Amino acid sequence: MGATFELAILVVAAGRGSRAGSGVPKQYRLLGGKPLLARTLSTFLKAAPQARVLPVIHPDDLEAYRKALAYLDKADLARLLPPSHGGETRQDSVRLGLEALAQQGQPEIVLIHDGARPFSSADLIARAGMAARTHGAAVPGLELTDTVKQIDSSGRIVATPPREALRSVQTPQAFAFDLILAAHRKAAQAGQNGLTDDAAIAEWAGHHVHVFEGEPENMKITSAEDFSRAEAKLLRELPDVRIGQGFDVHAFGSGDHVWLGGVKIAHDQALLGHSDADVLGHAITDAILGAIGDGDIGSHFPPSDPQWRGAASSIFLEAAMKKLRERGGMLAHIDATLICERPKIGPHREAIRARIAEIAGISIDRVALKATTSERLGFTGREEGIAALAIATVRLPLGKI
Ligand code: MG
Repeated sequence: MGATFELAILVVAAGRGSRAGSGVPKQYRLLGGKPLLARTLSTFLKAAPQARVLPVIHPDDLEAYRKALAYLDKADLARLLPPSHGGETRQDSVRLGLEALAQQGQPEIVLIHDGARPFSSADLIARAGMAARTHGAAVPGLELTDTVKQIDSSGRIVATPPREALRSVQTPQAFAFDLILAAHRKAAQAGQNGLTDDAAIAEWAGHHVHVFEGEPENMKITSAEDFSRAEAKLLRELPDVRIGQGFDVHAFGSGDHVWLGGVKIAHDQALLGHSDADVLGHAITDAILGAIGDGDIGSHFPPSDPQWRGAASSIFLEAAMKKLRERGGMLAHIDATLICERPKIGPHREAIRARIAEIAGISIDRVALKATTSERLGFTGREEGIAALAIATVRLPLGKI
């Protein structure tokens, strides 16, 4: 049993949902170059510097979780408790997280929060803590702008509840720790497992749950559209727009494939180079470094250094993204052109765009790729090599005065 502490925050991130489109669970998908869960954890660690934060994760996600932690500030990491493993349902996951907190030394108050809501303000988090102290159980809610209809199984409206009396409810949901732990234990013992939020569990256990003011910005990010909207919101907050350009050439030699934008493409020749010779990846990396005025790919990854021999060029792009992130910036857009007779790029265009978007952690609609020949003229026309051009638009915070 550890020392007692006042405020704990349980961040529930054990879901398997990959509704947002990419293969990884959505809480680990990059949002503006940072994993969604890292954004949420960082929001709470910064807003509540006195709190301990305990994430609940899926056991299959340990590696993704470990990677996400690399995006947090060192000082914040110290207040992050080791993650507990979730259960079959969200309700199980929360109960297991509460039991883990009980083992760590019971807090007075616990806020239970969705890992997929990164935009809670410090005010909202403070209001949640106060509401739990005042009422024992409280949740943030928003008034509805749409009229709500209750329907039957045939889709026919059976009731129109008065809108004034309805609230749509968010997280963090806030509770006296003993109250919500007891309610969860009681529900589990009773086999009551169909309750969709923690307020419902407190209600089921016979407690009054109050509603305090939520925030429209405190959205849950679930679909690919949500990711795009959240990305646009983050970009709007960065007023210093900069553009960088990159250019690269690699010569053909013997081989049976080329790497272009992180995608392996079968071909009757290979590109020669110290790394994997991904000419497109190199041009894009230089464009990003150019936009932040931070040297070029050769100065950061000198060809003379044996550690880059055969290296996957995604490493260089990830490193440029890290430099951008460390300045508080985000990548807004990439536009690239490949110049070659062969291989034909068209059939691979979407795969390459998707891979670049994945490495850079931005939406695919922010990555453009074009291809052209040089009409059989020059070295590209003679199929001696491939050239690539790239432009990157980045957004940065205004410099500190
Ligand atoms: Mg190169």
